[in-house]
Amino acid sequence: MSDLNNDAATAILARSRPRPKANDWRAQLRQAFRRPADLLTYLGLDDRDDPLTGISPTPAFPMLVPRAFAERMQPGRWDDPLLRQVLPDRAETVDVAGFISDPVGDHSSRQVRGLLHKYSGRALLISTGACAVHCRYCFRQQYPYSDEHLGREFEPALDYINQRRDITEVILSGGDPLMLETRRLADLTGQLARIKHLKRLRIHTRLPVVLPARVDSQLGTWLASLPWQVVIVIHANHAAEFDQHVDTAIARLRRNGALVFNQAVLLAGVNDDEDSLAELMERSFSAGVIPYYLHLLDRVAGAARFDKNRKDALRLHERLRVRLPGYLVPRLVREKAGAPYKLPVL
Ligand SMILES: *Cc1c(COP(=O)(O)O)cnc(C)c1O
Ligand code: SF4
Repeated sequence: MSDLNNDAATAILARSRPRPKANDWRAQLRQAFRRPADLLTYLGLDDRDDPLTGISPTPAFPMLVPRAFAERMQPGRWDDPLLRQVLPDRAETVDVAGFISDPVGDHSSRQVRGLLHKYSGRALLISTGACAVHCRYCFRQQYPYSDEHLGREFEPALDYINQRRDITEVILSGGDPLMLETRRLADLTGQLARIKHLKRLRIHTRLPVVLPARVDSQLGTWLASLPWQVVIVIHANHAAEFDQHVDTAIARLRRNGALVFNQAVLLAGVNDDEDSLAELMERSFSAGVIPYYLHLLDRVAGAARFDKNRKDALRLHERLRVRLPGYLVPRLVREKAGAPYKLPVL
């Protein structure tokens, strides 16, 4: 009897608020956390106990956290390394000397709408301004995406790449390129495929980590159909960002021919200790991911609370070299406006 009642109640609830299917990433995105109070309640945290500096309910860079990512946070912990990356903080509104709106000089490497050409041989397309998660340390939080992403007009970017025979690699970035529907990605790569001097396609995405349902069978089919070697650079900063769903997503990327690397950012309060970094490298490798970069924080306005100094970063990197096989040690780099590559930290 009680089972029946439960079933009836579940059925009514299901009708009033449809649960997204496990593989429907659009529906999952609609149900993402957008209000700090909701996320804190979900984690059993009371914002009156906030040990940090207080949470802004309406930050300029809005909160966005998919449930699939929140599920990997530990309830009751303000210092959860995943929560720290995404929870707005009043400190973001305070100006700190040296933290500016465009720390990496993206404005000056813009060639045409939606295209950055900063490094030799590689053109980066801002495929979309949207992301599935808003990382509080992101250097792109101040970039004027609404005017600057590719949109539906690929022509100027395609013309530019066509004319520059030295460009052999196109990087789909953003925002997050996998926020586009697969058929729009296919439309874009269909046009890129006509440019004969392209040898590689790279995709910079955090979606396999924060919304692994995005890596659906359609995406796999599209990847397998591409005429180039595909390189996918994911972004995870802590071992706890991996779970079986992420493993499955990465396995599908690899099965369809992509090489998968990870870039992480060294973040105070998230991964700034030897164990966390070593575990990140080990855990991502067991999912089939090779460490690529460990970035020093780009000093974007609002992100000062994540900053680590160069000396501490070097010391941690040295510990990783001692502890891990060479192929698990990421390159420690920082981005400098105007430099011809991501500078090794020395
Ligand atoms: C980071 C970046 C690249 C890629 O650099 P790699 O060192 O090859 O990973 C390309 N273009 C822009 C504008 C970038 O910021
Ligand atoms: S997913 Fe990437 S681009 Fe988007 S907010 Fe996070 S770090 Fe920035």
